[in-house]
Amino acid sequence: MTPSPYHPPIPVRIGYCDRVARAMDSTLHLLRDLVAIDSVNPSLVPGAAGERHVADAYATDLRDAGLDVQLIEVAAGRPNVVAVLEGRAPGRTLLLCGHLDTVGVDGMDAPFTPVEREGRLYGRGAQDMKGGLAAIAGAARVLASSGGLTRGRLVVAGVIDEEYASLGADALVRDWRADAAVVTEPTGLQLAVAHKGFVWIEVGTVGRAAHGSRPEDGRDAIVRMGRVLAALEHVNRELRGRPPHPLVGTASLHASMIDGGREWSSYPDACRLRLERRTVSGETPETALGEVTSVLHALREADAEFDGHAQVAFARSPYEIDVRAEIVQAFIAVARGQGLDVTPKGVSFWTDAAILGTAGIPSVVFGPGGAGLHSVSEHVVMSDVLACRDALVRLAERFC
Ligand SMILES: [Zn+2]
Repeated sequence: MTPSPYHPPIPVRIGYCDRVARAMDSTLHLLRDLVAIDSVNPSLVPGAAGERHVADAYATDLRDAGLDVQLIEVAAGRPNVVAVLEGRAPGRTLLLCGHLDTVGVDGMDAPFTPVEREGRLYGRGAQDMKGGLAAIAGAARVLASSGGLTRGRLVVAGVIDEEYASLGADALVRDWRADAAVVTEPTGLQLAVAHKGFVWIEVGTVGRAAHGSRPEDGRDAIVRMGRVLAALEHVNRELRGRPPHPLVGTASLHASMIDGGREWSSYPDACRLRLERRTVSGETPETALGEVTSVLHALREADAEFDGHAQVAFARSPYEIDVRAEIVQAFIAVARGQGLDVTPKGVSFWTDAAILGTAGIPSVVFGPGGAGLHSVSEHVVMSDVLACRDALVRLAERFC
């Protein structure tokens, strides 16, 4: 662990309450600063800013709070931030994790100008998930400034690339271990213990190029893909008709992108469909691919000329943690003490908790509320950011 090169001077004659009040102000201050920094994921939007500047700002805040901070380059110009607050005695390690990147800003007037209205803060990333990042840093600051952790260890991680391929979380679990983790994605202060996974599948149909006036020579790959799409609609209907998972509902499938053909006057020789299958616990990429290859097989049975193929392009597993797990029970106790809803829930969106969980770190998802995630009008509820921070402080004190 590299020690922090900068420790802020500790002011004399400043009481516990003053220090906590200062930490409270700094949480929302940090939130505004983070939203004001463009950290659009460059894998989603070529040429976008990436996480470098937001990582620097996050690292500076954590260092100022008294943590030992490292910037760990995961991809060119795209570092994870990992910061450690050591307790005074041995104990357990709690990891608090959030992602530094955001989706793109198409259609937004002033995405990086944080605007406050009626207790909400608007701007790209406010809800997903700079509110969660600010809550984590705020919790670390409260803990550090009120005498530090009695025991154990707090690890704060700001990771890159969650909105695309989660390179940051993959890199984090290669080098860091923890006894439990909280991912502060926006759950509206609900405790989430499960979410779906996803599988991206690429399907190709093969035709034969020919002049449009020569139907006897041409084979239409796009029309063939039409048969695939019609069959996939049935598959989706069947998936949605299954008994739902109690926390996350049913699996589903949808077409995402399609392309094929060269010009008006020709038979298309190829068509490519990219689709997404959302998975529930127990389903694997093979489950999803098997459904698509069965469709292709049936179409070939019905028409010997039909030619199609499918492959998995990318997949992330669903996540679920047993509600009897210690981190869940500790969180329930803390949330109850704070008057929050303690019923474990599922969320529909995928999170890095699946990567942490697969790496053997029992994880829950808990973060502030808001709306407009990935849309042109995104906001986070500021009081929720503070409530999230307070719950994280109590959880660290209890769990570590
Ligand atoms: Zn997110």
